[in-house]
Amino acid sequence: MVLDSPGTPLREAELTDPEAGPGQVLIAVDACGVCRTDLHVVDGELPEPKLPLVPGHQVVGRVVEGGERFRAGDRVGVPWLGWTCGECRYCRTGRENLCDRARFTGYQLDGGYAELVTADERFCFPVPEGYEDLQAAPLLCAGLIGYRALRLSGDAERLGLYGFGASAHIVVQVARHQGRRVFAFTRAGDEEAQAFARGLGAEWAGSALGPAPEELDAAIIFAPAGELVPAALAATAKGGTVVCAGIHMSDIPSFPYELLWGERVLRSVANLTRHDGEEFMGLAPRVPVRTEVEAFPLTEANEALARLRAGEVRGAAVLRVAA
Ligand SMILES: [Zn+2]
Ligand SMILES: [Zn+2]
Repeated sequence: MVLDSPGTPLREAELTDPEAGPGQVLIAVDACGVCRTDLHVVDGELPEPKLPLVPGHQVVGRVVEGGERFRAGDRVGVPWLGWTCGECRYCRTGRENLCDRARFTGYQLDGGYAELVTADERFCFPVPEGYEDLQAAPLLCAGLIGYRALRLSGDAERLGLYGFGASAHIVVQVARHQGRRVFAFTRAGDEEAQAFARGLGAEWAGSALGPAPEELDAAIIFAPAGELVPAALAATAKGGTVVCAGIHMSDIPSFPYELLWGERVLRSVANLTRHDGEEFMGLAPRVPVRTEVEAFPLTEANEALARLRAGEVRGAAVLRVAA
């Protein structure tokens, strides 16, 4: 499924099979998760994607042609971070997620909305046993970047999650496993999402713009809505952190300094490092994280994106690629 131009639907196309270059593996895709970032790419909210582009950066598949790290037949995951330079000041200080020349899967590199994909094997992960392909796919970004956001929110006991989609439905499970209390904030009246959150261990779920039941020690904002930033700061106790976990957000309205005062921290989380991936892939089966997915055939990628845009997906949307 190919994006020719932002703002237009993906097109079903027969492409020439990709060939693995040096250091790459050729992968037969079994499943590919649909991420909100894919929507931002398709809708033209992220600048200068490769065009035409095969989107998708939560790829689970089997190696067809190996490099050195993986053999033919191995199950691997391909995440958003597809390549880094290894030389810039970020790469040299353990912050490859901020690499100046990083390339991202399904953005600057063709991704997993396809039957075949190539990837730099250094950036692929083994997929933990015990997960079907469809259930494993959301671990690759919703899980990974959600986990990074959780880590950077500090050791908060009372954690607020704003927007209860693919990422939050994984993060709530990890947070509960770590002994935290979780409060889920959704669109007003979205009772289905609120019930879903409570079912996964949130002790409270309610409207994001209404009052919180008690102070939070940290909040993670997954929804791309800037007005949630002052709302989350207002709900967070002194010294607490508000993490913006998305790659794109509408403008943040101005707010009184009082909301930030008291050593509250407001920060974003960008991308992932390979270290995050290894840590999270080790942790997920121990929690154990159970993902809830809504599966679509590859050719219905536009439908999957439309449902995600409308906020209608429960858990994570995943494209089923292998027959
Ligand atoms: Zn770099
Ligand atoms: Zn993503």
